[in-house]
Amino acid sequence: MRTPFIAGNWKMNVTDREALAFVDAVKDRIPSNDEVESAVCAQSVSLKGMRGKAEHTDLRIGAQNMHEEENGAFTGEISAPALASIGIGLVIIGHSERREMFNDTDERVNRKLHAALEHGMTPIVCIGEKLEEREADRASEVVRKQLEQALQGVEAEQVKGCVFAYEPVWAIGTGKSSNPEEAGEMARTIRAYIREQYGQPAAEAVRIQYGGSVKPENIAEYMADEDIDGALVGGASIKVDSFLSLLEAA
Ligand code: 13P
Repeated sequence: MRTPFIAGNWKMNVTDREALAFVDAVKDRIPSNDEVESAVCAQSVSLKGMRGKAEHTDLRIGAQNMHEEENGAFTGEISAPALASIGIGLVIIGHSERREMFNDTDERVNRKLHAALEHGMTPIVCIGEKLEEREADRASEVVRKQLEQALQGVEAEQVKGCVFAYEPVWAIGTGKSSNPEEAGEMARTIRAYIREQYGQPAAEAVRIQYGGSVKPENIAEYMADEDIDGALVGGASIKVDSFLSLLEAA
């Protein structure tokens, strides 16, 4: 059985003071990891402080991105070794905002995924189609292609530890969530691809999240689908009560 995994992606919306106050407020109230895994992915400046406060709790703290190289002349970037050195073991890779605005091509997503795996980090690999691709009935094809490129050279054993977030681009931050049947179908497409390429044990092990306008009021509809194992939540993960409600409903 796969443990549900709810992760918040705060994007660029939470200051350090707010981030630390959030961890203080939730840390004694989150469910145990055996029931539901929980994480928040914050801006880099807050990761070390949050990690310190979340120590000995079941709340995981993650990064929203990192660079594919170990080190070098990449001003302003963050490396896997730097994240690992402060105990961060979770990272979002290939979010559509990064693909759109920061040149995270499929090839870079693949390299970032390798960097995360080499450093023992859990990657949340984001994939999902744009509105025009869905309207042209190409959603499955686009997602399969993104998976193929992201996973180049990754071993089946490593795939088992990956989390995939299916985030249709048109549903992100729009309030226009995908209907749960469509999201479930896409989760099955993803799992089927993993089965074809990496075998049944990997397909059974990977966790697939849905992301895009998830909130406490609709999360249960997604979680009811047997192929959706959790959610990657933007706006509704920032407020303490809302985040706790998401975990409760998961
Ligand atoms: P919203 O939940 O705000 O739509 O954002 C989704 C998202 O991009 C999570 O990564």
